[in-house]
Amino acid sequence: MTKTVLITGCSSGFGKTATGYFVRQGWNVIATMRNISDGKELAELDNVLVTRLDVEDPASIASAIEAGIERFGRIDALVNNAGYGLFGIFEATSPEKIKEQFDVNVFGVMSVTRAILPHFRTNKAGVIINVSSGAGVFTLPMISLYCASKFALEGFSEALSYELSGLGITVKVVEPGGVISTKFGQRSGAEAGQAQSIPDYEPFVTSSLAIFETMRGQRLATEEDVAKVIHDAVTDGTDQLRYVATDDIKPLVRARRETSEAEYIQFMRSKFGASAAS
Ligand code: NAP
Repeated sequence: MTKTVLITGCSSGFGKTATGYFVRQGWNVIATMRNISDGKELAELDNVLVTRLDVEDPASIASAIEAGIERFGRIDALVNNAGYGLFGIFEATSPEKIKEQFDVNVFGVMSVTRAILPHFRTNKAGVIINVSSGAGVFTLPMISLYCASKFALEGFSEALSYELSGLGITVKVVEPGGVISTKFGQRSGAEAGQAQSIPDYEPFVTSSLAIFETMRGQRLATEEDVAKVIHDAVTDGTDQLRYVATDDIKPLVRARRETSEAEYIQFMRSKFGASAAS
């Protein structure tokens, strides 16, 4: 029987590309997005249902799941992909903006997950993929709020995987690094642009941006690469929890996970801390 995946945030980027990827592998896709006029191209694909889902709107989550089950009979996998990066200095960012970051990247994932779990429990099967980030494994300055949201997502996913394993439901985390072809940078740049400017931080911001610029050059992965990792994580039949999705972040992920805490923090401070500026 043809399997079905529900993906959030399919208007662009990984969600849109993963929709095409799953279809080419013979899956039905419930391609959800905030504004369905962004889904005209996907709606032309066979086996795709484009439907509205805003992760901040519980009624839209319930109706998207219902419409998907009505069209395809059942849902086998959920990809919590919708999200964005709130970039900028913490002190310069408003509490409202911080709340919105968590509303989408953390509480939005929880709302969609909560809504689909009764269906997965009835089926005694289901795979949940949460799209995290390198920023869910290591932190960088000037993206502290995005990191906080993805660290929360990582902790939630890991703990949830224990709760659900006895029910036939698998939880996995996919961790992409920088992929510049999506709309991620556009929204992050717009969010950062709204933060107030605090002159005391200016030398730090300038030196950090110069480091980020060198990191940008290492971003060679494509949306297709990440879509493949998401698909492989759904279908590999294992209970592997985490998948590092792009090569650019592997050295930092390895450093975070395999060197001692003291060595790692010392290394990062030498790049970004006060000693780096002196
Ligand atoms: P993208 O092209 O900007 O796609 C983000 C998607 O999330 C869009 O479809 C956007 O919809 C959707 N979204 C935002 N707020 C939403 C809400 N309240 N409800 C439903 N959908 C919402 O960026 P992307 O790179 O594909 O990002 C996808 C995921 O990958 C995110 O979780 C991001 O944190 C993660 N990630 C990206 C990168 C990267 O470098 N690209 C790296 C690591 C992790 P609208 O069009 O309506 O705004």
